This record gives sequence, structure tokens and C-alpha cells, in this order.
Amino acid sequence: MTEKGLLIVMSGPSGAGKSTVIGKLMKIRSDIRFSVSATTRDPRPGEEDGVNYFFRTREEFLRMIGEDAFLEHAEYVGNFYGTPARPVDERLAEGWHVLLDIEVQGAAQVLQKRPDAVSVFLAPPSLEELERRLRGRGTDTEEKIAGRLETARRECALANNYTYIVVNDDADKAARELDAIITAESCRSGRKLESMAKGDLLS
Ligand code: ADP
Ligand code: 5GP
Repeated sequence: MTEKGLLIVMSGPSGAGKSTVIGKLMKIRSDIRFSVSATTRDPRPGEEDGVNYFFRTREEFLRMIGEDAFLEHAEYVGNFYGTPARPVDERLAEGWHVLLDIEVQGAAQVLQKRPDAVSVFLAPPSLEELERRLRGRGTDTEEKIAGRLETARRECALANNYTYIVVNDDADKAARELDAIITAESCRSGRKLESMAKGDLLS
């Protein structure tokens, strides 16, 4: 792989199905690397350090901010989350598409720094369905669910800041739509001409 990969920023309220849809997308495509974030929240059952997140203490996280290690970072429902910068740039340079699953404040920081990033908002079919999914997941207390729903209302109002909106009514369909977006974006003439020129095809 020599063509520089796409930086794909995905946001959507907690419980919309981002992890589920990303899991399905990564089975369809083998050219994507998921950016593993650092967080101060506790691991959920089944989550592994270094796979789902780098689980860090608040002190460790603050130290990483001080070392300018993050492409972006934000506080979300009482915890810190951040994208380690170096692995993102290394994977992109190797030609991988790099997928960030980050909330709206962090996404705004990335889109400002990297205007060529592709942005996708994964929306739940409705807030009622979102509440059902959060309860069904069974990983959050009532207080956390209330906090996540309140945040979700504010986040959905920002969906128009994203180039694409995918509604996750059916997770397989949502993964197929994401696949199509990535394919179309990588064929945009601006990107193709740049990589073709590098390969001397058009010089
Ligand atoms: P997120 O990563 O956005 O927080 P998850 O992927 O953890 O969301 O999904 C939240 C819950 O909703 C999980 O229990 C998951 O199995 C379920 N879920 C995800 N997508 C769908 C869908 N299209 N239809 C029904 N349930 C779904
Ligand atoms: P959860 O706790 O449900 O895994 O994630 C909560 C929220 O944090 C989700 O909206 C998720 O997209 C977001 N998130 C995960 N990693 C990062 C990150 O590195 N930076 C930012 N800004 N948000 C993140």
C-alpha cells in the first residue's frame, strides 16, 4: 500500500451502535485500522486494555496531555477520552484508512486540524430506541444512562457538522453504507490525482 489512507472520524451518541457497526465494517474491509483511544473510564466486561481502549488513570492521562501526545482529547460524561496522535499518522502514512470513534467535541478538533478527514455521524433511529439499547447493553447505571441520553440530545443536534449521516436501524446495512462512503471518498478526483501524480502516472 503506498497511497495515503483516509482519516475517518465517526461520532454518534453512546449506545447508537458505533462499536457494533465498526466491528461489522472491519469484517467487510481489511484496509482499515481502528484508532485505540486512551480513557479514564473503567473497562466494561469483555473490554481489553490496548484493544478497545488504553485504560489510564487521571494522572496518566493528564501527563499525556502535558506531553502533547493527543491529536484531540475531551471530557465526556465525567471521564477523559483522547486519540494518541502518533499511531494515527504512522498508519495513514503506511496507507491504512484510520477510523476514529470519538465524541463531537473531539471530532470538531480533528476536523479543524485535518480538513481532509471524512466525517460520519452514526445516528440511532430515535431517542426511544437509543434508550432501549443503552438499557439492553446493561453496562451503565441509571444515572449514567440519564447522563448519556441528555448528552445524546445535544450531540444529535450537531449531526449537520458531519459530511455523512448513517442511521443505524440495521447494523449490517449501516456497515455497508460506511463501506460505500469509504470507497467513494477514496475515489474522489482530488485524492486520486494526487496519488497518481506521485506515481508518475500523470506527470
Ligand atoms: P456504541 O459503541 O455507539 O456506544 P454499541 O455498539 O455498544 O454502541 O451498541 C449499544 C447496544 O445496542 C448494544 O447492546 C448493541 O448490541 C445494540 N445495537 C447496536 N446496533 C444495533 C441495531 N442496529 N439494532 C439493535 N440493536 C443494536
Ligand atoms: P464509551 O464510554 O461509550 O466507550 O464512549 C463514550 C464516548 O466517548 C463515545 O461517544 C465515543 O465515541 C467517545 N470517545 C471514545 N474515544 C474517544 C477519544 O479518543 N476522543 C474523544 N473525544 N471521544 C472519544
